[in-house]
Amino acid sequence: MSPRRNVPRRREGRPQHSPEASESLILRITGGERRETGPDGEWALRRISGAAALKVYRCPGCHQEIPPGMAHVVAWRPYGNGEDRRHWHSSCWDRRTHRTVRYPRR
Ligand SMILES: [Zn+2]
Repeated sequence: MSPRRNVPRRREGRPQHSPEASESLILRITGGERRETGPDGEWALRRISGAAALKVYRCPGCHQEIPPGMAHVVAWRPYGNGEDRRHWHSSCWDRRTHRTVRYPRR
């Protein structure tokens, strides 16, 4: 009998790369983008600094406006054409992913 670790898989059909490795690779390729996987699929993310935020956006997390000058997060489908980009408050995006990654104890 060979001692084999039964590593739990996050999700069926994911690429074989470990999340850490693919994330750093993506960062190197794209210069600042990262991937996150939620229940609604995979997202590419970019953090926008306050200096780069020049327009008002509507956050889909709380439906409030993101004023110019506020650092925030842009998320879009990595396999799409980029037209589904959405701007989120950083805190709203974090809350979203926390909700999906950590399951409530019950
Ligand atoms: Zn928000």
